[in-house]
Amino acid sequence: MKEKGGEFIWFDGKFVKWEDAKVPVFTHAMHYGTAVFEGIRAYASKDNVRVFRLKEHMERLHRSAKVYSFTLDYSVKELCDATVALLKKNRMKESVYIRPLTFVGMHGIDLNVTAKSPTHTVIIAFPFAKYFKDEGITACVSSWRRISDQSTPPLAKAAGNYLNSILATQESKRNGYDESILLDFAGNVSEASGENIFLIRNKKIYTPFFADSALEGITRESAIRIANDLGYEITERPIPRAELYMADEIFLTGTAAEIVPVTSIDGKPVGNGKEGPISKAVRETYSKAVTGEIKEYRDWLTPVW
Ligand code: PMP
Repeated sequence: MKEKGGEFIWFDGKFVKWEDAKVPVFTHAMHYGTAVFEGIRAYASKDNVRVFRLKEHMERLHRSAKVYSFTLDYSVKELCDATVALLKKNRMKESVYIRPLTFVGMHGIDLNVTAKSPTHTVIIAFPFAKYFKDEGITACVSSWRRISDQSTPPLAKAAGNYLNSILATQESKRNGYDESILLDFAGNVSEASGENIFLIRNKKIYTPFFADSALEGITRESAIRIANDLGYEITERPIPRAELYMADEIFLTGTAAEIVPVTSIDGKPVGNGKEGPISKAVRETYSKAVTGEIKEYRDWLTPVW
C-alpha cells in the first residue's frame, strides 16, 4: 500500500498510529518470509459497512499459522472483534480492504522457528476500489509453475508464497496480459496469481482440487454455494491446460478481484470473447450478497456500525 490507510493500525492488541506502526529491520519475517496473512473486504452500503466472511478469514489465518507452528496470540473471536473495533476507531464508512498479518519478530537468523518464537499480529485497513474491470480480463498461462505442497504448501496463505505469484504477475504484465494462470507440477491448471479459477463447459462448472496447488479460497467457496443455489452443477477435478482453450466461460474468484470473467487466454477468445451468462449470474449474485441485498447470504456479513 503506497498511500496511508486508516489513521490507526491494530498492533498486538493496541491501536497504534499508522506512522508509528514500525518493526525492527531484524524482524525474521523480513528475511525469510515467515508470516501468514489474510485479505478481507468490507463493503459499504446505504445503511452500514459490512465485513465479508470475517470469521472464515480469521479461521484460515489460524490454519496457515498452524502449518508453520507460528504462535498466534489472538483467538478467532478476538481478531474478529479487533477488526470491527479498528474500522470503528478509524471511523470508516466506505468500502475497505483489511489486511491481518501474523509475522515472526525478533527470532535471530536461524531457521528453527518454533511455537516459542515471538510473533506479532497487525490488522491494517484502507479504502479499496475495484481490482479488475468487471467486463473481463485477459490472461496467459504462466511459464512459472505454481508452488507445490511438496515444498511450500499453497494451502497456507504464507507471505513467502507470494514470490511465486509475483514472478508470474511480472511476466504476464510484461507480455501485456492482465493476469496469469499457473499450472501445477503435473501440468494441470492450478490457480491465478491471486485468485481461484472456474471453467464452464456445456453449462457445467469445473474448478481444480486443492491438491492441484490451489488456495482454499473463501470467494471460491462462496461462488460454489451461489452457483449451486442458482442450480448449476460444480465438479472439482484436475483441469488440463488445453481445456482452458475449449472453455465456454472462465471466471476467477478472490477477495480483491471478487468475481471476474476471463475473456481471453493466451490471445484466444474464451467462448465468444465476452462475459458468459453463467459467470454473469454468479458475479451479479455475489455483488448483491456482499452488500447484504440477499437475505439468504446475510450470515456471511458482520456489520460494523
Ligand atoms: N489464490 C491465491 C494465490 C490468492 O492469493 C487468493 C487471494 N487470497 C485466492 C486464491 C483467493 O482467495 P480468497 O477468495 O479467500 O480471497
